[in-house]
Amino acid sequence: MDIKFIKSNTPKSKPEGKLGFGTYYTDYMFQMKWTTEKGWHNPTIKPYAPIELDPATMVLHYAQETFEGMKAYRNDNDDILLFRPEMNARRLNRSNERLCMPAIEEEDFLDAVNKLVDIERDWVPKEPNTSLYIRPFVFATEAGVGVHAANSYLFMIILSPVGSYYANGLAPVKIYVEDEYVRAAKGGTGFAKCGGNYASSIIAQQKAKKLGYDQVLWLDAQHRRYVEEVGTMNAMFVIDNEIFTAPIEGTVLDGITRNSCIQLLKSWGYKVNEKALEINDLMKYAKDGSLTEAFGTGTAAVISPIGILRYKDDVATINNNTIGTVTEKLFNELAGIQWGKVEDKFNWTHLVEKA
Ligand SMILES: *Cc1c(COP(=O)(O)O)cnc(C)c1O
Repeated sequence: MDIKFIKSNTPKSKPEGKLGFGTYYTDYMFQMKWTTEKGWHNPTIKPYAPIELDPATMVLHYAQETFEGMKAYRNDNDDILLFRPEMNARRLNRSNERLCMPAIEEEDFLDAVNKLVDIERDWVPKEPNTSLYIRPFVFATEAGVGVHAANSYLFMIILSPVGSYYANGLAPVKIYVEDEYVRAAKGGTGFAKCGGNYASSIIAQQKAKKLGYDQVLWLDAQHRRYVEEVGTMNAMFVIDNEIFTAPIEGTVLDGITRNSCIQLLKSWGYKVNEKALEINDLMKYAKDGSLTEAFGTGTAAVISPIGILRYKDDVATINNNTIGTVTEKLFNELAGIQWGKVEDKFNWTHLVEKA
């Protein structure tokens, strides 16, 4: 893809101290337009800046928007690595298809990510467990308040240096099982990574926070009975030395970390059951000790151990509220591959070439 480059005359200074998550943005962003007449056109990398939109812009009214979340990692040779970026390209197109938005050639997506990250390679932080978060997103730009698929879109990519998710080590999180609100129903958009899914889930997150919990564990929308996933992560459970995780059947997001964990676990000889798990059983297993570990998987945290699970008035502590052996082994292996410290047997990492 021939990407036009507009140079910034006012590069920012790199942040010092704590990076947090999504606090700082780099000097450049990628942008490409789509119209019914021209398809995708004018791919451009230009200085990071606000964009101006007509107040009638359709995304603001009907939420035709999809996004991805990925990271660039710096290894000890100062190479910059991406982790399975083609999976993000494919998933974005699955999301776009569901929201009646145009597909992006996988090759063009990868080209845009690579070139932007290459230009911004100095922004990939150096400290352990830090990375450059990559946020590609697509949204409807047609101005008009009639409801239909828009006739114009923008594909953008922004970058944000992010700190270690684990300032205090791999501390287990407290999870509230949500039995009132739901995230996704069969036939809906649960499998798509779209802003709309999040808009409707914030209320449950607030409720959990108020009760002193970090995140929500969602149950299925039809019965409020089967375990689905955590706010921004897929959920996995170690029960009698077998792994359980919700199947990908339309309501759960097909996480790339989830997929990678399943491959690693299988390669270590674990039985992985992608099967619906009843919340009542899960709480029973937590109480009788057959549930030995629980954790979330996602790009932001990699692996996040779950220490406490509350369902209605029942509170269960898992593995004495400490990280379990499977959870820790997965974290070390996956984070090791991502940051280029552990042999990449699956060929998951992708080197960002220098222009
Ligand atoms: C992005 C996301 C995940 C994690 O997916 P990864 O590809 O592993 O980062 C899980 N659940 C939801 C709802 C998500 O949006």
